[in-house]
Amino acid sequence: MRKPIIAGNWKMYKTMDEAVSFMDALAGKLKDSDASETVICPPAPYLATLVEKSKGLPIQIGAQTMHENAEGAFTGEVSPAMLQSIGAKYVILGHSERRQYYNETDEAVNRKVKAAFEYNLTPIVCVGETLEQREANETSAIVSDQVKKAFAEIDEANAAKAVVAYEPIWAIGTGRTATAEDANEVCAKIRSVLTDLYSGPVAQSIRIQYGGSVKPANIEELLSMSDIDGALVGGASLDPESFAALAEAG
Ligand code: PEP
Repeated sequence: MRKPIIAGNWKMYKTMDEAVSFMDALAGKLKDSDASETVICPPAPYLATLVEKSKGLPIQIGAQTMHENAEGAFTGEVSPAMLQSIGAKYVILGHSERRQYYNETDEAVNRKVKAAFEYNLTPIVCVGETLEQREANETSAIVSDQVKKAFAEIDEANAAKAVVAYEPIWAIGTGRTATAEDANEVCAKIRSVLTDLYSGPVAQSIRIQYGGSVKPANIEELLSMSDIDGALVGGASLDPESFAALAEAG
């Protein structure tokens, strides 16, 4: 039985005051239940404050990206060791915006996945195709290749802890959602790739989220699918009311 995981990716939004108010509002709305997991991934300047605010609440805090090295002369970067030291638990890796605007390659994503495990962070590994790739019937090949490369040289014990987020790029921030059936088909393909890489029980235990214009109106249908174990949410995670509704659906 895989525990659903609903994660909010705030991207580059909110001031510190807004971030703190969001946490206060969300705290009052979430039931303390073991049935699902709720994660907030705020901008880096708010991570430590939100980790403190999340103590005693059913909320984990994650970063939106990180560097692959523990330390070094990398101006502006945040390291896995730093994230671990402030108590962050998750890190989103290979988000399509990182791949598109910061040239994050599959190989870099793989190095970061390895670094995340080294520092006890759970990676949320993002994969997904562009609209052109979908229209050319390349979704399955593209996503399979991204998964294989992200998990290269990751052993079973670590792989079992990972979260994969299937995010078709054409559905991110566009209001266009993949149909639940289409999303599930790709998530099932991801699980079959993981089954080729790892033992059946490990592949069965890895949680696979769908991401792309998820909102309260479509979450239940998505979560009812056999291979969708949660959601990675951008826009709808910015409002405590809608994010609480998503978290409660998990
Ligand atoms: C995302 O940023 O990962 C995302 C899925 O965004 P949105 O929910 O806004 O489409």
